[in-house]
Amino acid sequence: MIQVSRPKIAILGAGYGGIMTAARLQKEMGSNEVEVTLVNKHDYHYQTTWLHEPAAGTMHHDKTRIMIKDVIDMNKIKFIKDTVVEVKPDEKRVILSNGELEYDYLVLALGFEPATFGIKGLKENAFSIRSVNSVRKIREHIEYQFASYNNEADRRDDLLTIIVGGAGFTGIEFVGELAERVPELCKEFDIPRDRVKIINVEASPTVLPGFDEELVEYGMNLLERKGVEFRTSTMIKEVTEDGVILGENEEVKAATVVWTGGVQGNSIVANSGFETNRGRVPVRKDQRTPDYDNVFVVGDCALLINEEIDRPFPPTAQVAIQAAGAVSKNLLNLVRGKELESFTPDIKGTVASLGKGEAIGKVGNKKLYGSTASAMKKVIDNRYLFMLGGPGLVWKKGKLKLF
Ligand code: FAD
Repeated sequence: MIQVSRPKIAILGAGYGGIMTAARLQKEMGSNEVEVTLVNKHDYHYQTTWLHEPAAGTMHHDKTRIMIKDVIDMNKIKFIKDTVVEVKPDEKRVILSNGELEYDYLVLALGFEPATFGIKGLKENAFSIRSVNSVRKIREHIEYQFASYNNEADRRDDLLTIIVGGAGFTGIEFVGELAERVPELCKEFDIPRDRVKIINVEASPTVLPGFDEELVEYGMNLLERKGVEFRTSTMIKEVTEDGVILGENEEVKAATVVWTGGVQGNSIVANSGFETNRGRVPVRKDQRTPDYDNVFVVGDCALLINEEIDRPFPPTAQVAIQAAGAVSKNLLNLVRGKELESFTPDIKGTVASLGKGEAIGKVGNKKLYGSTASAMKKVIDNRYLFMLGGPGLVWKKGKLKLF
């Protein structure tokens, strides 16, 4: 019998974009039609959109993790736990830390990394919320500072000062969780609450730039009541070992600085020679790179233009999940010699959590506040789990207590 080799599809990264592409392919591909390989650094997928919670210590990090074998059928899709080092698109090869991979079709889904905008000392001295490992470190670090405070002869206040750079969605959601966690830490380590400072620094004149003004006001008032200090229209000039230098050379001493002020596409993509803009590939309407007909990009590594306003769509899980549906379809269209379809994100809304039981958001034209918005956020999270792993995964990992 002659064994005909099947077209090889490689998916790099098992975040929202990568794992959903794999999950859709395993449902839609014919048996023996294609050979799909998924590569990821870890043997688990994590919910990036929840990472502000374990970073502050209000959720255990395991809750954000889903074992890849629990949602991907390893008989249908080959999984390689390894780190991507480089892609060689002209040779259709991927270099991994422990080997190599050949492909006919490729999906780049390697996610984001912090954008430092050239701020001095940021990379070396600030934490970032980007993976399970990075947030475990933030949580441990903050707890260590609180544990140290009463052991120091001079009770240094900077040990209890947390600076969060950036007041976009990640920054606001993180200070919301910190405002929940700090009273618990104070109780645990015998520290008066008024010694602790949570300072959110933002270069724009407002937090959540571009978001509905009424919702922003609600959110800021609520967080200020919970003890968050906002420093808007303020640039972080430098991050040092001792804290930050702001605007006109004002030094604020802080043992913890967390940067949430911007993201860019994973630098492996640009370093592999793909055309990028802030690390993101300006993809064609069918999600392929401008230069390679066999390479698709999904999630935060892709730059998609919202033609209604002629500006890029912000990189979100919402867009990554939708794009994964389009990419899996187009991969099979390409293999089957069919025409490729165009993809346009359909933005259903945005909800930002502000700590336990509180959120703000817009779904369609409807503004949501407080516990209703918070319940909606949990419904959105549970919906994703349902799409990925059905009711069993919602039961195991979902946020079941809505109010
Ligand atoms: P990721 O989810 O980052 O996945 C990338 C994957 O690639 C990871 O599994 C990683 O381990 C793997 N990887 C990376 N490098 C390598 C390598 N070299 N080799 C092998 N594997 C590698 N979006 C929303 O829509 N709604 C929200 O409410 C929201 N809240 C957010 C809250 C926070 C705290 C953060 C940080 C982000 C939030 N976002 C939200 C944005 C959203 O998380 C991202 O847009 C989304 O994660 C992008 O998905 P992705 O698949 O491109 O990348």
